[in-house]
Amino acid sequence: MSDETNPFESLQEQIDDAAAHLDVDDGVIERLKNPERVLETNLTVELDDGSLETVRAYRSQFNGDRGPYKGGIRYHPGVTRDEVKALSGWMVYKCATVDIPYGGGKGGISIDPTQYSEAELERITRAFATELRPIIGEDRDIPAPDVNTGQREMNWIKDTYETLENTTAPGVITGKAIDSGGSAGRVEATGRSTMLAAREVFDWIGKRIEGASVAVQGYGNAGWIAADLLDDLGATVVAVSDSGGGIHEPRGLDPVDVKDHKNETGSVVGYGDAEAVTNEELLTLDVDLLVPAALENAIDAELAEDVQADVVVEAANGPLTPGADDVLADSNVWVVPDILANAGGVTVSYFEWVQNRQRFSWTEERVNEELERVTIEAFDGLVDAYEAHDLPNLRTAAYVVALQRVANAYDQAGNWP
Ligand code: NAD
Repeated sequence: MSDETNPFESLQEQIDDAAAHLDVDDGVIERLKNPERVLETNLTVELDDGSLETVRAYRSQFNGDRGPYKGGIRYHPGVTRDEVKALSGWMVYKCATVDIPYGGGKGGISIDPTQYSEAELERITRAFATELRPIIGEDRDIPAPDVNTGQREMNWIKDTYETLENTTAPGVITGKAIDSGGSAGRVEATGRSTMLAAREVFDWIGKRIEGASVAVQGYGNAGWIAADLLDDLGATVVAVSDSGGGIHEPRGLDPVDVKDHKNETGSVVGYGDAEAVTNEELLTLDVDLLVPAALENAIDAELAEDVQADVVVEAANGPLTPGADDVLADSNVWVVPDILANAGGVTVSYFEWVQNRQRFSWTEERVNEELERVTIEAFDGLVDAYEAHDLPNLRTAAYVVALQRVANAYDQAGNWP
């Protein structure tokens, strides 16, 4: 029996749903449902008190038919082999949906980073980078930040790789700090594509984004930037949450103020006069737009029955289970899938890599313009597929577009040996 909460099974179901609309050999579809290889390793590191601890780490290289493997590295106690496999597959289809020349990969370490000092985290990260060294590289596999990792970890990985390889290779990793070869606009990119996806879908369904009410689950990098940019567009952010709980203010929240409060106190909870809500209550608020921006499986089929939003734009990876997708499609809720909505992160990672390879920096204006172009073209491509194939939802449309692109690349390369 399938497990609704196993993200790898969700990914495989999403691929099957799209494959039913395509004329691609079953053997090729089977290939496109499974990773090419998965590194599973133990990292034994010294803690500050001199004791040793062993932690489990993974890197899944799902598919490289369209270019080097590409995808983030996550630090979270919930990291498992299947989660990393799923996330790496989503990267393949994300890169193909927005048509950038990458395959997909993903990595993770099963730790709670809040339990370690900065020095311990550096040793863990450099130990992982040492294990990764033979299988990553500017033309091989290019990691990036994900949940609980950021510029700091990327800079450590780059430095470890370059030191061991005795070279400079800024393009071995993306999401770096600007002074270490990062790109303008990268930090904001995931929230920016989420905002652009929301703007485009509202326009397509004939709804105004100005004045639309918005709830955002997860107030980290993706969620808070999306909230801020949606506010700039004239939408009203009425509720946000993080792992500590949620807040609701029907008159609207100031996203920057809320972010400052979270930075000071560790959570959005307790901000101003806003009413406290649970994460479940936030997800079922009567709003125009719901942005899940935390983790997988935030909304299952049961909770989906209570979702009142007209539109869901997925900033997180895999926030809806396949059962939730079916319920929302039946209730005529438009869902813009993660592999388009949050693709800004990998798109600007691609721009960062291009700049690294060219040893030439773009302005933030150029980065944002190119991201807008890529996102709009991808959204239009999805709508074309949705209408041409009479598909049940935009997610299946995205997978139809992406699977066909990856299958074409495999076919054109030929089956050898
Ligand atoms: P982050 O660590 O910066 O933020 C995650 C946020 O989610 C935090 O505020 C955390 O408190 C909150 N959270 C965790 N569990 C929660 C729960 N049960 N309920 C409510 N909130 C909860 O991570 P991020 O980089 O913003 O990533 C968030 C999602 O976006 C992930 O699914 C990630 O894979 C996806 N994503 C991120 C990027 C990127 O560039 N950062 C790119 C693509 C996709």
